[in-house]
Amino acid sequence: MTSEGGNGGTRDAMTKRILVVEDNDLNRKLFCDVLAAGGFAVEPCADGNQALERARGFLPNLVVMDIQLQDVSGLDLIASMKGDIHLREVPVLAVTAYAGKGDEERIRETGAAGYLSKPVSIGPFMAAVRGLIEKAA
Ligand code: MN
Repeated sequence: MTSEGGNGGTRDAMTKRILVVEDNDLNRKLFCDVLAAGGFAVEPCADGNQALERARGFLPNLVVMDIQLQDVSGLDLIASMKGDIHLREVPVLAVTAYAGKGDEERIRETGAAGYLSKPVSIGPFMAAVRGLIEKAA
C-alpha cells in the first residue's frame, strides 16, 4: 500500500475530496475510513483552529464538520467558510452530538447543507455525503 501526498489515497481529477474536521480520534478515524473505502480522497483535521487553512489548501468538494470542537465552534467555522470567497461554495455536512430542538434549524441557517446527529450510522452518513457531492457537482 502506498501513500501519495500524505492524503491517504490516490488523487485525480475524478476523485472527490473530503475534509473531515473532527476532534474525537475514534470518530475521525471512522469517518475517514468509510469515506476512503467509498473512493473519496480524505483529509483529516483534528484541530478546528486549522480547519480553514486546511480547507483553503485542500480545496475539498465537501467538508464534514463536527460542531463540538475543542476550543472553536464548528458553527463559527461554517460561518467563516460561508464568508470566504474560496470556500463559500463548498457544501458542509454538520455532525453534532446535540439533538436539541432548534439545533438543526440553527445549523442549517448558519450554512450547513446537511445535518446528522451523533451517533452517526454508516449508511445514512454515506448517503448524505454522496447526496451533497452529487448536488454540488
Ligand atoms: Mn467533538
